[in-house]
Amino acid sequence: MLVYQRDRSPAVEIGPFKLGDGNFVIMAGPCAIESKLQVDLTAQTLGELHIPVFRAGAFKPRTSPYEFRGLGEEGLKILADVRKNTGMSIVTEVMDSQDVELVSRYADILQIGSRNMQNYRLLEAVGETQHPVVLKRGLAATVEEWLYAAEYIMAKGNEKVILCERGIRTFEKYTRNTLDLGAVVAVKELSNLPVIVDPSHGSGKSSMVAPLARAAMAAGADGLLIEVHIDPEKALCDGKQSLTPVQMKELMKELNALSKAMGKEIVNNN
Ligand code: PEP
Ligand code: MN
Repeated sequence: MLVYQRDRSPAVEIGPFKLGDGNFVIMAGPCAIESKLQVDLTAQTLGELHIPVFRAGAFKPRTSPYEFRGLGEEGLKILADVRKNTGMSIVTEVMDSQDVELVSRYADILQIGSRNMQNYRLLEAVGETQHPVVLKRGLAATVEEWLYAAEYIMAKGNEKVILCERGIRTFEKYTRNTLDLGAVVAVKELSNLPVIVDPSHGSGKSSMVAPLARAAMAAGADGLLIEVHIDPEKALCDGKQSLTPVQMKELMKELNALSKAMGKEIVNNN
């Protein structure tokens, strides 16, 4: 039985604004923190677009252990500088319950990755903080399993859970994952949790990100998580699905037009 999801308020406070309040919150940034220069240049371009939340991973859960796995605490410090210099809020992944205290010191929002959606110790550990948590759907998780994972966090006293649909494994090979926008509608029917959509991991292809982002807004999502890289071809992680700053600017124009038609307000960082 889903216990917590009926009573909680749907809005999650993130610094100066709320997510899940009928408005639309965009989180964007590179898959991984590669260097201070890369992050600062990206943050500058996203700042010019008034994006309120900057994303980037310091601890990267890579399928192969031989790939770039992130800069760790050094990366977190780079993110803290972004917050100081731009006023953007920071979302970054925490992979292990032992790192929750460390990541919480630097981040405004904790991200639980798809591969960890059913890591119950980790869910409880973030549940013991009062940081908002972006809970990504597991790559093979049903909607029910996803909502129960959210319950693990809330049962510990932290009700600031933001669901994130990021695509699931299906028989389809053209895309990296199959973005399940039906699940956005389903979790809205079953719970009062806010839900954002990640069309970057949901497709694995930069050419599909903007159309799926628009579809997510139209389907009633509360926001987006989008990967943006200053030079996708040189990215150490997920370059193929990353938008360039110019593409992100174009997408923002499209989303602004759509949001007007839908009567939704896109949250701006100042
Ligand atoms: C990410 O956001 O970069 C990431 C690793 O996402 P997921 O856990 O959805 O694969
Ligand atoms: Mn990624």
